[in-house]
This record gives sequence, C-alpha cells and structure tokens, in this order.
Amino acid sequence: MREDIKRVGLMGGTFDPIHYGHLVTAEVARAKFSLDLVIFVPAGIPPHKKGMKISSGTDRFMMTVLATATNPYFEVSRVELERTGPSYAIDTVRHFKRELDGDTEIFFITGADAAIEILTWKDATELLKECSLIAATRPGYSTCELEKSLEEARLHSTQRINLVEVPALAISSTDIRRRVEQGDPIRYLVPWTVEAYIYKTGLYR
Ligand code: ATP
Ligand code: MG
Repeated sequence: MREDIKRVGLMGGTFDPIHYGHLVTAEVARAKFSLDLVIFVPAGIPPHKKGMKISSGTDRFMMTVLATATNPYFEVSRVELERTGPSYAIDTVRHFKRELDGDTEIFFITGADAAIEILTWKDATELLKECSLIAATRPGYSTCELEKSLEEARLHSTQRINLVEVPALAISSTDIRRRVEQGDPIRYLVPWTVEAYIYKTGLYR
C-alpha cells in the first residue's frame, strides 16, 4: 500500500447489487473526512444474511469493480470473499491494520440500519477501539434512533464516532432485485455498467 495513504475508509456490504446509495455514501464520507482511499469490501458470508439466497462472490465483486472503476479514490478488496466462515467487520479491520502503515487511521463506513445495530456485532467494543466509525443517514431509518445508538457506541469507543448526512436515496439492493425479477427498470438506480452486467448474466431473474 502506498505510503501517502493515511486515512482509509472501509465500506462493507453485500453489494447484491451495488447501487448509487452505496456510492454516494462512500463519496460523501471520503470528501467530508478527507479520506485518501475508500476500500469497498464485498462480504463473503454476511452474518446477518445467513440462510438467505445471495449472488456469487464473483458476481458481487465484478459489479463492485464496475461501479467504482471511474473513481480514483475507490478500490475493491477480495479479503472477505477469500476468507472462510462468516464475514465479521472486526476481522476485516484487523486485516487492514496489518496491511497498512501503523499510523493510518481506519474509518468504518456504514448506513444507518447497520450502525443502529453496531453494538450487536461480533466484538463490537473491540471494533470501536480499533477504528473510527462514519454512520450515514439512510431513508427509512430514523436519524434520531441512529443518534441514540451512536451515543451509546461512544461509551465503548476510544475513536471518533461520526454521523454524516448523505443525500437521501431511497434505493436498496432488495428493491433492485425485485425490480429485475418483475421486469421494472433499474436505470438511474445503479451505474449503467452494473445494469448491463445484470442483464448480460441474467442475475435476479
Ligand atoms: P439489501 O437490501 O440486500 O440489504 P442494501 O441496499 O441494504 O441491500 P447492503 O449491501 O446491505 O445494501 O449495504 C451495505 C452498506 O451500505 C450498509 O452499511 C448500508 O446501511 C449502506 N447503504 C445501503 N444503501 C444505502 C442508502 N441508500 N443510503 C445510505 N446507506 C446505504
Ligand atoms: Mg442491507
């Protein structure tokens, strides 16, 4: 990793598929917190989606690469896809702490729904000591409830816990999958490269 990379954002998710809600969140966080790099980390086996049908790691990785290709600050990591067992944020943060210079600050970026539940994550209190948190507002999830959860998280954290407001995009991967299945348009909800990949591979039909 380059030596001038000192502030790194990690954007975790299933990305099935990646959409503009993810991209705008990562970009707003990057600009607001002067991040040198945002690494998108598609989950191998998301712990909270056990037993649910998800697309292959290859398809989700490919779509994430296609969606982020034109942003020089964005990269995609295969670390969770290559790890066996459930993908826990704590393992991923520790992986990047080993990879990056000792003085690099890591910011874990999540949307409101994930942030509200952060204290239920595996080794949450350890996680909150190892990295800063950037929690983004998300339509459909109460900002008030988010603030309350962050206040509680602060009691366990030695790092910064930040709330960031991002332009409200009421987009979810669940809705996109349903749209494709029903033959409804997904144009302007995902980058056109991702749309083309979905149609080419027959995903979600
Ligand atoms: P699904 O409907 O399959 O759960 P999703 O749209 O919630 O998909 P995920 O891959 O589960 O997407 O989310 C990854 C991360 O991105 C989470 O932290 C989530 O809160 C955040 N996120 C997803 N969509 C948005 C959005 N529209 N605005 C802000 N944050 C979002
Ligand atoms: Mg989700």
